[in-house]
Amino acid sequence: MIKTKKDLFINGNWIKAKEYRYLTSPYSGEVIASIPIATEQEVNLAIESAERAREIMKEMPAYERAAILERLVNMFEKRSEEAVEIIALEAAKPITTARDEVARTIQTYKFAAEEAKRIHGETIPMDAAPGGRGRAAYTVRESIGVIGAITPFNFPMNLVAHKVGPAIAAGNPIVLKPASQTPLSSYFLAELLHDAGLPPGALNVITGTGKVIGDKLVTDPRVVAITFTGSPEVGTDIRNKAGLKRVTLELGSNAAVIVDKGVDLGNIIPRCVKGAFSFQGQVCISLQRIYVHEDIYNVFVEKFVEETKQLKIGNPLDPETDVSALISKKDVERTLNWIEEARQEGAEVITGGAAEGNILLPTVLLNVSSSMKVSCQEVFAPIVIINKVQSTKEAFELVNHSRYGLQAGIYTENIHTALDAAERLHVGGVMINDIPTFRVDHMPYGGVKESGIGREGIKYAVEEMTEMKLIVFNRN
Ligand code: NAP
Repeated sequence: MIKTKKDLFINGNWIKAKEYRYLTSPYSGEVIASIPIATEQEVNLAIESAERAREIMKEMPAYERAAILERLVNMFEKRSEEAVEIIALEAAKPITTARDEVARTIQTYKFAAEEAKRIHGETIPMDAAPGGRGRAAYTVRESIGVIGAITPFNFPMNLVAHKVGPAIAAGNPIVLKPASQTPLSSYFLAELLHDAGLPPGALNVITGTGKVIGDKLVTDPRVVAITFTGSPEVGTDIRNKAGLKRVTLELGSNAAVIVDKGVDLGNIIPRCVKGAFSFQGQVCISLQRIYVHEDIYNVFVEKFVEETKQLKIGNPLDPETDVSALISKKDVERTLNWIEEARQEGAEVITGGAAEGNILLPTVLLNVSSSMKVSCQEVFAPIVIINKVQSTKEAFELVNHSRYGLQAGIYTENIHTALDAAERLHVGGVMINDIPTFRVDHMPYGGVKESGIGREGIKYAVEEMTEMKLIVFNRN
């Protein structure tokens, strides 16, 4: 067991805080570390040091920014098992899933290193307008300034990489506030980036309460952009306070897949089970709603439940474990209440529906109406609903009947249905013949409606973290 004391990482130094708190394992409840709680003064210090690093980062040539990120990739590769253990311990992420996250984190930083070298503008054909004759023009993309990054608990390495990677690639300093349950991953990153030669102040990591640090980052005029991944409630609060700052919000969803008649269920069932229960369903594009054509509904449910019952629950550090503890006791209580409420309103709990300690058993619900919380809100737990539909058209309406719109999936052999889905589903990304949970780290990723604003995926995040400037030469 790791038992360690962390300090705040400000201006390239480890700074003692006035107060510390114990971090406990969501699985065993054991103390795993002592974590500093930053006050507003320390947040101020972090912003100040980022502001000082602004010019250094702005002036740093692209090849040097890329080289820092390449060195970071090498260090991550060397110390990947340490990173895996940190995630498994602080987030109760099953170790095999934690290993996938570290592999993806390395990819994300590789993409960032590559992207650092191709940030450029375009030439503008000025003579397309009569008044533009005799003028030459081009655009450049400039770094934007100090970025405030606020991240959630569920991918403590890779979702941080999606902010820190593009910020460095684009030449911006950053103040990072990780989720209170998963600070160790960010402090580990600070250590690596320091050794990789990132200038002091270009990355500052501060931990403490979301409200104190969040409010300061969001309202301080020296922070010019906020990049947030987390719940829609906090995201909305940030947007309301951020004024004219640039804001990227990657929020929640109740992602759905449609299963059309005539598909081969052989590969689809295990894929859907993975999409629903991976990391206990605590994934923003976790599969929460499945709409199956009536012709294959009974077979689908039978096979899905059979496959679900094969999942092994237990200690996140055991490589055999598929499903472990939810992030907090409060979430176990909340989800049990939602299941009970659905049961009382007529839903059928076909498997799961109970908890063992902090582990909610993988739960499958049938006959769920779209107004029940397990359908219309984000469950963020190993709960999935399977409902029968008469047509894909009906399924499109059900998928779209949601506050959220991150990604959706459809399995179909019919090209016309696939094209209809691509056109009609109101989400940030449509996965044809896959679950909505599919993501690789360079694709544009983000949502519509209450799932957020803006896109991540390194190239797209770099766009959010740079400012376009136009230069016009008058040759008349
Ligand atoms: P959360 O409760 O919203 O917390 C996210 C971050 O915001 C944490 O660092 C939290 O700090 C901080 N925070 C809390 N209150 C704040 C405030 N008033 N001002 C500023 N920051 C504040 O979310 P979570 O439970 O960690 O993560 C789960 C949510 O993230 C789900 O809704 C999930 O769908 C979403 N998510 C979205 C994506 C995506 O890419 N779209 C990816 C992953 C997760 P504390 O931890 O200290 O409270």
